[in-house]
Amino acid sequence: MLDRPTKLQEYQTYIDGKWCNAASGKRFETYDPYTGEPWALIPECDAADVNLAVESAYRAFETGPWPAMTQTGRGKLMRKIAGLIEKHAEHLAKVEVRDNGKLISEMTAQLKYLPEWFYYYAGLADKIQGAVVPVDRPDHFNYILKEPVGVCAFITPWNSPLMLVGWKLAPALAAGCTVVIKPSEFTSASLLEFMKLVIEESGLPPGVVNVVTGYGAVAGEPLITHPKVAKVAFTGGSITGARVNELAARSFKKVSLELGGKSPNVVFDDCILEDAVAGAISGIFAATGQTCIAGSRLLLQETIHDAFVEKLVAMAKQARLGDPGLPETQVGPVTTPPQYQKILSYIDIAKDEGARCVLGGGPATREEGGGKYFVKPTIFTGVNNTMRIAQEEVFGPVLSVIKFKDEDEAVAIANDIAYGLGAGIWTRSLRRAHSVARRIKAGTVWVNTYRAVSFLMPFGGYKASGLGRENGAEAIEGYLQTKSVWINNGPGGGNPFVIKTASS
Ligand code: NAD
Repeated sequence: MLDRPTKLQEYQTYIDGKWCNAASGKRFETYDPYTGEPWALIPECDAADVNLAVESAYRAFETGPWPAMTQTGRGKLMRKIAGLIEKHAEHLAKVEVRDNGKLISEMTAQLKYLPEWFYYYAGLADKIQGAVVPVDRPDHFNYILKEPVGVCAFITPWNSPLMLVGWKLAPALAAGCTVVIKPSEFTSASLLEFMKLVIEESGLPPGVVNVVTGYGAVAGEPLITHPKVAKVAFTGGSITGARVNELAARSFKKVSLELGGKSPNVVFDDCILEDAVAGAISGIFAATGQTCIAGSRLLLQETIHDAFVEKLVAMAKQARLGDPGLPETQVGPVTTPPQYQKILSYIDIAKDEGARCVLGGGPATREEGGGKYFVKPTIFTGVNNTMRIAQEEVFGPVLSVIKFKDEDEAVAIANDIAYGLGAGIWTRSLRRAHSVARRIKAGTVWVNTYRAVSFLMPFGGYKASGLGRENGAEAIEGYLQTKSVWINNGPGGGNPFVIKTASS
């Protein structure tokens, strides 16, 4: 059971290695989604705080102990960070449950796994290598340097606040960058606890990691447009992502975008039925459907449609709703009031469009295990892929079931969407698994599993689901610049008015 003290906890933010209030003195309340009550006060930062944080990050990047540290030294510090996350995992998990409403069972697993990102990228810190290039001039020596890009701005959503910061922070530190993080205004608390228990405690030099808490337009936009920010790493909705991309483009910043999804979970009639039913459930009802990779479009081969739906509804009906702080709870609250309203409005849209609601379809009462912002696990059948409920991201426990005839039709429906984040395939056929995996346009394809992620595997989206990749060795590239160095060991000269080529 979660401890829920009634006195409001007061947080400060962390800039230049110091704890501080917003320059304006303003604060806002953050809510416990299970009770609907405010539980903490968070500084409301604006452009003035952003400027202090970016200037601090810039100083830390240019001067002092951070740029002077060897890559191996950076790796050692990152291993310390990993150890501190392990040490404080239980506390951080509980804060996340309080602030976000995520299940304690999910948070315990997430926090146990998060240190691996720091161990992995710590190992890569001193393996970032350039190259010597034998150019087509005998008296030249040419090499390529890989350099940290500079100050990075992280803007993150509310659905997995700490994990999504970790995915960015580990490769950025390994590359030698410095950072300013703007978390979601709905879930700032766990990051502030992380700063105190992990970052401050690790001995990372002041200014290497800073936080500006606050709202998107007020704190996020000045951060993106600040001239001393070199890279923006954003996770959030696709509409916000487009705005972030436009703002960053004005000053030619490097950008990575992890955006929304409407992922197809495709079940063929040669699947192992029980596994596929469990996979469909975990695809949409885990984390109350509030995940970018939710398998929110369930594509069922028509030959097994009715039998599958029967089993699916029977299993989903068993889901235990309740207090996210209890280990036995399986479906928790929706994290934010606007998100709660959005999910309910999509349920109405689906009904108006003629989809058939075979489970749930509205708020869950206290008697049904619900609390302030609970939506019952909801399943719609008879969905056509052109309906809004099939095309738009709901970001909640609402599943659209769509029938298909054969492999070609399954692939066509799977790809007929603006997004391309994830996809699931359930089949016993090896040929079909590989063939469909290649034909689906998505950054991750799972076969006979769903929702698996690892620090070792690249993660990101096609189309409106984003730009760039997090995780895996290639994520470090997003935090690096490439510099070409030309050394002339021979005589100078040549025609100064003509560009030098091998023949000039
Ligand atoms: P959001 O886009 O509303 O907000 C994300 C962040 O952007 C928040 O910190 C917010 O304050 C900030 N922001 C909002 N407007 C801004 C602006 N004009 N300038 C700068 N910053 C601004 O998203 P959300 O509701 O917090 O999160 C849910 C969305 O995130 C879903 O669409 C989900 O699919 C997506 N998501 C994607 C991934 C992924 O890895 N692809 C992971 C998690 C969540």
